[in-house]
Amino acid sequence: MKIYNTLTRSKEDFVPLEPGKVRMYVCGPTVYDFIHIGNTRPMIFFDSVRRYLEYKGYEVNFVSNFTDVDDKIIKRALADGVEASVISQRFTEECIKDMEGMRVRPATTHPKATEEIDGMIEMIQVLIDKGYAYEVNGTVYYRVKRFKRYGELSGKNLDDLISGNRALLVTGEDEKENPGDFVLWKPKKEGEPYWESPWGQGRPGWHIECSVMSKKYLGEQIDIHGGGEDLIFPHHENEIAQSEAVSGKPFARYWMHNAFLNIDNKKMSKSLGNSLKVRDIAARHDLKVLRFFMLSAHYRSPLNYSEDLMEAAKNGLERIENGLVRLRDEAEKCPQGLAEGSPVVQAVQGFCSRFEGAMEDDFNTADAISVLFELIKYANTLKPEETAREDWDALRQTALELGDILGIGEPKAELLDEAIEALITERQEARKAKNFGRADEIRNQLAAQGILLEDTKDGVKWKRA
Ligand code: AMP
Ligand code: ZN
Repeated sequence: MKIYNTLTRSKEDFVPLEPGKVRMYVCGPTVYDFIHIGNTRPMIFFDSVRRYLEYKGYEVNFVSNFTDVDDKIIKRALADGVEASVISQRFTEECIKDMEGMRVRPATTHPKATEEIDGMIEMIQVLIDKGYAYEVNGTVYYRVKRFKRYGELSGKNLDDLISGNRALLVTGEDEKENPGDFVLWKPKKEGEPYWESPWGQGRPGWHIECSVMSKKYLGEQIDIHGGGEDLIFPHHENEIAQSEAVSGKPFARYWMHNAFLNIDNKKMSKSLGNSLKVRDIAARHDLKVLRFFMLSAHYRSPLNYSEDLMEAAKNGLERIENGLVRLRDEAEKCPQGLAEGSPVVQAVQGFCSRFEGAMEDDFNTADAISVLFELIKYANTLKPEETAREDWDALRQTALELGDILGIGEPKAELLDEAIEALITERQEARKAKNFGRADEIRNQLAAQGILLEDTKDGVKWKRA
C-alpha cells in the first residue's frame, strides 16, 4: 500500500510500526458552532482510510480530538452570555449527530482538550526542563531555534519565518526571545476559562493539545497523522517540534493532508458569506450523499461544492444503491446452485482487486467508486437464467463489503404512507394513555427513517425530511 507522505513529499510503502496494527490521529474540529462542510472532508476521508485498513485486517487505534477550549468558543460564549463549556458541549453533541448522518464511525477515542489539561501542563514542564520552552510573565513559549528540524514538514526555512514573523508581531509579543516562537500556555484574561498551573492561572495553546492526546492514547510514535492541508503549518510543524523534543523519536511516520473544499469555485469563508453548514445540507439531502460527493474526488485534489454537483452525486449514489437492491433480489430469487468455474465469480475477483488497487494507490476513492459502478453495470448485463445463486451471492457480498469501506450500503426500505399513519395513530393512543415512553419511541423511530412529525391543532402532520 502506498501513501503520499507530506513529510517526504513522495508516495511511500506503508509499513506500520507494529505489524498488524495501525495507530492514527486526525485533528478534529473546534466546537464553537455547527460544523461546516469543509470540516467534513477530513472526517469522511479518514473514516474511509480507517475502514479500508480494517478491511485489510489491521487493528486500527483511531484517535480524533474535539478542541473544546479556544478563542472562538470563548467569543461565542461571551456573545451568548453563557459559559464556554455550554457552547463546546452543545456543539460537540451536534457534531456527533452530523457524523452519524455522514456514516462516520466514532473513533476509538475522542478526547476533549479540557479533560487533558494535566497532561498538557506535564508536557510543557518537560519542554521547559529540557530547554525547549521558557516562561515570561505567565506565558510559556516554545523556543523554535532549539529544535533543529523545525520547518521540515512545511518546507519552510526558519530564518525566513523569523523575519516574516517579526513584521507580524502584535503588541505583547515583544517578550518572545524570537518572533517565530509559539505559545504553549497563556495567562487567563477576565471572563475566560482557566486552570491552575506552575506559571499561574491560564489555558493551553492549541498545538500542545494534539501532542499530548496523541501520546496518551497512541504512544510516543504513531503511524498516520492526518488533517486538512491548512494544518501543515503551523499546527503540525509545532506538534512535531513538541512531541519529538519530548520523546527524542520521530513522531508520526506518515503525514497525510486533504486538500480544501471550495464552494462554487471560491474559498469558503465567513467574510464571503459562503460558509455552508452540514445542517444546511441535511435540510436538502441525506448526508450519505455528502459523503459520496466527498469521496468522489481524490483527497489531495481541491474539490468544488455546488448544488449541481451534489445532484450528480445523489444520482450516482442512487445508481449504486439500486444496483445493490437488485443484487439482493436476484440472490433471493435465484434457486440454490453452484457456480463452479463461473465467469461471474472470476469477474468478482477482478473488481475486488481493482478496487483494492485504487485504494492502495494513496487511497484513490474516486477510482474505487468507478469500480463499484462497473460492478453494478456488469451485474445488470447478467441474465438470471444463465446464472447460479452463488454468482449473485458473490457479487452481492463483494459489493457490500467494498461499498462499506466508502460508507455505501443497501438503502433502508422506505416506510409506506400507510405504515407511517398507523404508527402515528398508535402514538396518539399511547399519549392518551399517558404512555409517553412509547410515544417518544415512535417519534424517534419515525425520525430515524427521516419522517418528521408536527403536532398542530388540527392533529398530527407529517413529512419526509
Ligand atoms: P477547524 O475546526 O478549523 O480546526 O478544522 C477541523 C478540520 O477541518 C481540520 O483538519 C481542517 O484542516 C479541516 N478543514 C477546515 N476547512 C476545510 C475546508 N474548506 N476544506 C477541507 N478541510 C477543511
Ligand atoms: Zn491537531
